Amino acid sequence: MLTILLGVVFAAAALYVRHSYRKLRQKLLAIETVTLELPLLGQKRAGEKIKGTAVICGGSLAGLFTARVCADHFEKVVVVETEDWLSKENGVTPQRWQDAPPRARVIQWKSAHAWLVLIYYALERLFPNLLEMCKAFGIHVTTGDIGVHITGKHITGPYINGQRFGPEGSPKMLCCSRPGFETLLRALVLDPVAYPNVSQISGTVIGVVESKSERRLEEVSVKTPEGTHVIDAVLVVDCTGPGQAVYKTMPSAPPLDSITETYHPKMNYCTSHFALTPEMAERVPMSTYLLPAAGDVSRCLIMFQQDHLSIAISCGAWGSSKDLPTTLEGIREHVAGMGYTAPKHVWDVLDMLKEVEDTITSSLVRCPASFWTHYERVADQLPVNYVAIGDSVGRVNPVFGQGASKALIGAIGMNTLLHEVQGIDNDFAKRVHKAQAGRMKRFWSGTKSADYTHSTTIPAAGETLEHGNIPRLFVRYIQILAPTDFRAARLAWKNMMALDGTSIDIFSPMLFSKILWMMFTERVLGVNLKA
Ligand SMILES: Cc1cc2nc3c(=O)[nH]c(=O)nc-3n(C[C@H](O)[C@H](O)[C@H](O)COP(=O)(O)OP(=O)(O)OC[C@H]3O[C@@H](n4cnc5c(N)ncnc54)[C@H](O)[C@@H]3O)c2cc1C
Repeated sequence: MLTILLGVVFAAAALYVRHSYRKLRQKLLAIETVTLELPLLGQKRAGEKIKGTAVICGGSLAGLFTARVCADHFEKVVVVETEDWLSKENGVTPQRWQDAPPRARVIQWKSAHAWLVLIYYALERLFPNLLEMCKAFGIHVTTGDIGVHITGKHITGPYINGQRFGPEGSPKMLCCSRPGFETLLRALVLDPVAYPNVSQISGTVIGVVESKSERRLEEVSVKTPEGTHVIDAVLVVDCTGPGQAVYKTMPSAPPLDSITETYHPKMNYCTSHFALTPEMAERVPMSTYLLPAAGDVSRCLIMFQQDHLSIAISCGAWGSSKDLPTTLEGIREHVAGMGYTAPKHVWDVLDMLKEVEDTITSSLVRCPASFWTHYERVADQLPVNYVAIGDSVGRVNPVFGQGASKALIGAIGMNTLLHEVQGIDNDFAKRVHKAQAGRMKRFWSGTKSADYTHSTTIPAAGETLEHGNIPRLFVRYIQILAPTDFRAARLAWKNMMALDGTSIDIFSPMLFSKILWMMFTERVLGVNLKA
């Protein structure tokens, strides 16, 4: 009798825990991710568009995502971009990376970029002609398996045992250069037939005018070759990247230092591009990502096919830039000295590239400090119609290729809130800042946690590199499990692709019990587990 009673109590408790876990997870999906908001993208607004102009300052990735979202909600959208050629024909013409004019304010213009699955899901909703345009721009649409290897072991992509990991449909992603992607995006957004209410002007935002009677921006001042131009604004979006140009011109804004966290990952990348023959392009994998395990050696390698028959190979290292290679032989040495075994196909590609070795061009980027500006903490002091999206909110170490997704997530969050309002009310910006902060956390904590495993990282003020040791321990166990366990692989993949991974997924019963067992094996039985 007692056994039956205990059994019933245990079963009820288990059901209760499962129910609570699911409920909490659903809540976290809304706070930490944009998964539930994706279906709203590209949906027609109920009622009339908001009267007046949304002024988007900065016409790079964040500015373009934001402009597209605003096109559905505002009578008029104006993008202001300081680099003149981006507002001319070249800015919307398919670019081979070799021919793309230089970009003065974007140091990573010629660095390898990953375009995560979230980006594909969003773009296909926002632009019905996406596939057609990708074709015209020579951009690959490929399966959403980015080819991640941790210490040389493959973390299987979106399908394992027939299970599909994406929220819907077959996961896909784009594979192309930064100039290719940005120009495609600009051509899509500035399509005068599809979005006649969107335009871009060439000029530098030099100031904003605040209302005398309320906490609201009224005008944006733009310096153009013809003189200063003033635009009346109902919404001002700061998409000027790490320069945070609009915030810096707001007279009433609290000092940036007082709301910005920062640390320095001391990470450097050297991206080398090679031209491919059509036969080589057939044989080279679309994408390979070689990463060290948490707390392990400091080198990584990222390899993507680019648009227009080329490949980008990015060698990265925490700590030192001295040995980053700019020759094929140097890349081979980088791979040989990674401290873990690279998969065979990487060596095959490097062998193949001997034939086109003389086409190599390289671009070294020393990553600046990572930072996160907490606008949400001072939202009550900021204008109610000022928001920031993209790198003007924060910049993370690009090792996981998240910058564009981070910008997109800001734009998606704003789209959801725009669907809920008739106009830009007094709570609008505050809600955008808050939503964005909830989502920025995963990008910030995830990369910081990885960076803090390297002794060369300069930690944030008041922290040591020990900070976050416990979550890092869990990440390490996931990395050990992922090559053979589909739940761990799914968790790793969803997080990597900026999809529906939440901070409690690691506690799902099956996965967590395995982690506890690994802890026991290591800590109590003294067995050393390795990723
Ligand atoms: C080495 C490296 C590799 C990276 N790899 C990846 C990757 O694989 N995947 C990924 O998603 N991300 C990657 N990133 C990050 C990604 O490139 C950035 O997150 C992204 O560029 C941010 O876009 P943004 O529009 O916010 O800012 P930015 O791209 O910096 O653009 C800001 C824009 O504002 C304009 N501007 C500035 N001031 C003014 C002004 N006063 N008036 C008007 N216009 C102004 C600038 O000209 C620029 O066009 C990488 C970054 C680095 C450094």
